[in-house]
Amino acid sequence: MKTASRRTRIVATLGPATDAPGMLERALRAGIDVVRLNLSHGTPEDHLRRARQAHAIAARLGREVGVLADLQGPKIRIDRFADGPIQLEPGAAFTLDCRAGAPAGDATRVGVSYLGLPGDVKAGDHLLLDDGLVELEVTGVDGTAIHCTVVIGGQLSDRKGLNRKGGGLSLNALSDKDRADIKLAAELKADFLAVSFVRSAADIVEARALLREAGGDAWLIAKIERAEAIGKLEEIIDASDAVMVARGDLGVEIGDAELPGLQKKIIREALARNRAVITATQMLQSMVESPIPTRAEVLDVANAVIDGTDAVMLSAESAAGKHPDAAVAAMARICLGAERQFEAREKISTRTHRLDRSDQAIAMAAMFLATQMPVRAIVALTESGTTAQWLSRYRSSVPIYALTPSAEARRHMLLLRDVKPMPFAAERTPVTVVRQVIRDAVCQLFASGDLAEGDRVLVTHGDHTGRGGGTNSLKLLSVGANGIAESLRDLQ
Ligand code: PGA
Ligand code: MN
Repeated sequence: MKTASRRTRIVATLGPATDAPGMLERALRAGIDVVRLNLSHGTPEDHLRRARQAHAIAARLGREVGVLADLQGPKIRIDRFADGPIQLEPGAAFTLDCRAGAPAGDATRVGVSYLGLPGDVKAGDHLLLDDGLVELEVTGVDGTAIHCTVVIGGQLSDRKGLNRKGGGLSLNALSDKDRADIKLAAELKADFLAVSFVRSAADIVEARALLREAGGDAWLIAKIERAEAIGKLEEIIDASDAVMVARGDLGVEIGDAELPGLQKKIIREALARNRAVITATQMLQSMVESPIPTRAEVLDVANAVIDGTDAVMLSAESAAGKHPDAAVAAMARICLGAERQFEAREKISTRTHRLDRSDQAIAMAAMFLATQMPVRAIVALTESGTTAQWLSRYRSSVPIYALTPSAEARRHMLLLRDVKPMPFAAERTPVTVVRQVIRDAVCQLFASGDLAEGDRVLVTHGDHTGRGGGTNSLKLLSVGANGIAESLRDLQ
C-alpha cells in the first residue's frame, strides 16, 4: 500500500527564479500542482514559454500540471524614480504627481499611474505604499497634485503598489491591459484565470464573457482583496469557480487585525457554496532569502490547512526567491504534517451545504457514509469533475480518486483538496456495461497500488459513462483478490 499522499494543493508563481536551469523541474518534483503566471510582470512571450515548459516537464515526469493566469487588475502603482530608490523620513512632505507623462520621481515627488486618483482622495486619507511598508497622510489635493506627509518612512522604489486604507477607490476591475491579457490566457490555454480587485459578481461575469469570447475555458478565480468585496462575498463566490484569499492587498485595505477572521470566513463560505479556495501571499516570505521557513510561517501554512483551504500559494518565494524548490518542499511537508494532525470529522448537513442537484445529493450521501464507516477511498467516475468537486467540499480524511477521460477536467481538479485526478478510458457505454466499467476502475486503482485487497470503497457514478453531469448512484464495494470488486454486505 502506498504511503499517504498530500491532499492540500500547492500553487507556485513562476518567474526569473524558476527560469534558472533545472529549477522548474526540481520545484515541480517537490510538489507544485498548479503554476501561476503573474501577468503583472514579464512579457507575453515569458508567460507562453513558462506555460509550455511546465507542461513539457510535467509530461516527462508522467503527470499533469495546471496553469493559472493571474490578471494584474487595476492596481495603482507609483511610476519610476530618476536615480533609483529613495528614502522617506517620517514627517517629510511628499507629493504624488497624477499628470500624464509626469517626470521621473525624486525624494520629494513621484508620478502615479492612475490619473483619477486626485478625485478619489481627500485630506486626512491614509495612502499605503508597497503593501503598507510606507504610509502617507494626504494633507491636500491641488489639481493633479496630491500633497502628503510621511507617516511611516522607509525605502521606496520604482512601481510599488498604492492602496487607500479602508478601500473605496473607484477603478473598474478590468483594465485595458487585463482585456488584452484575457486573450493571452486563452492563447496559453490557462486552466484558471484569476481576476484581481473584484468588486462584485458583475466583474466576474464580465471577465468570463471576455474569456469565452476569446475561446478560453478556464475556471474563473475571484481574488478577494478589496474592502468592498467583503460585503458582497456570497454573490462573488457564486459567480466564480474558485476564490483566492489575497492577503497582500486585503490586509492593506482592511488592516491586518481583520485578516485571520476573514481568511476563515472566506474559506468557510467557499466550501459551503461548493467552490475551491486558495490561500495566498507571504506564506513563506522569509524563504525569499532563507533556505528554511520561520516557525510563524510553518504555523501559518498549517493553520490555512486546518481552516480547510484547498490550496496554498507561493508568490515571490518561488518567482523571485533564492530557494523556489526548497519553498515548495517546505510547503508540501507542512501540509502533510497538518493533514496528519487534523482529523476532519465534519457534521454533514444541508444547513451548511446547499443541495440542489442529484450529483450533489450523491456526494453528500457518500461523504456521510465516509464519516460513519471505515472506507479506504471514494472513487468518482466523472466526466467534468463536478462530482469530485462536490465530494471534496466536505473535509474528511478519505481520498477521492476522480477518474475521467478528460484531461481538461483533470487539470481543473488539480486545485481541489483531497482529490486525486486520474486518466481513465471509459467510452460512452450503455447502462448494462456500467458495472463492468466500475470493476475496471477498481482494478486500475488496485494495479496502481492505491487500493489493496480487503479495502472498502464508495463509488459514485451515473447510469452511463461518457456523459457529463449524470452522477446519480452510489455503490459500496470491497476489493477482493486480484482487485476484483465485490459487493459489500457486512459493514463490521
Ligand atoms: P497579488 O495578489 O500578488 O497579485 O497582489 C495577491 C494578494 O494581493 O495577496
Ligand atoms: Mn493583490
